[in-house]
Amino acid sequence: MPYIDIKENTVAPGEILRKLRLEDDPDDMELIEDMLNEANGIASPKAYYKESRIDDVYFDRIVIDGVAVMSGFAASKLKDCTIVYPYCSSCGTELEEWSKAYTDPVESYFADQIKELFLYKAMAALKKEISLISPGLSSLNPGSLKGWPVSGQKELFAILKGCDCGITVTDSFLLLPVKSASGIFFKSAEHFENCELCPMKNCPNRRAPFSGRLSV
Ligand code: SF4
Repeated sequence: MPYIDIKENTVAPGEILRKLRLEDDPDDMELIEDMLNEANGIASPKAYYKESRIDDVYFDRIVIDGVAVMSGFAASKLKDCTIVYPYCSSCGTELEEWSKAYTDPVESYFADQIKELFLYKAMAALKKEISLISPGLSSLNPGSLKGWPVSGQKELFAILKGCDCGITVTDSFLLLPVKSASGIFFKSAEHFENCELCPMKNCPNRRAPFSGRLSV
């Protein structure tokens, strides 16, 4: 199972200032730069994927590497594949622990945004590597659509069993560290991203425009 070597694993001050849209408050800038220096010193973002085989497809579920994914929606999206690429990525447990020291609401928000940028670094490295296998792969994720709800995280991480990525799925299907991502890359005749079926307005992570349709 490939563990991604994340070569670009530091965040530049300009990246966090752009994300926060802060440019002219010297106090905030000094605090953010101090926090960023700490974060850059300890961050170890992670990303993993594996090649998985589709075993069986039914109208209400799909079996991947022996794990039944109870989603007719996921089954309809993946039914023409023989191989898919489940993945997970994270800002890393090191940053999660670091951020717990920041309990002031503003500092905690800054820490959260820094962790998110490290997750982006992990995802960028993962997408770069996966694009070497096949460019323009589609992506399906549990959690944001009714058709494959957040409970699908348990199934997905059962497929990813053995990944030493430090991600835990809680009883309420939350991923820890919170700045983690998961899903399945797959080949498809027409490119697909969950965002096409998600009406959420002003989502900073939108990867495709809303099509006007909802998942079933
Ligand atoms: S628009 Fe945002 S919340 Fe909706 S699927 Fe895309 S990333 Fe997730």
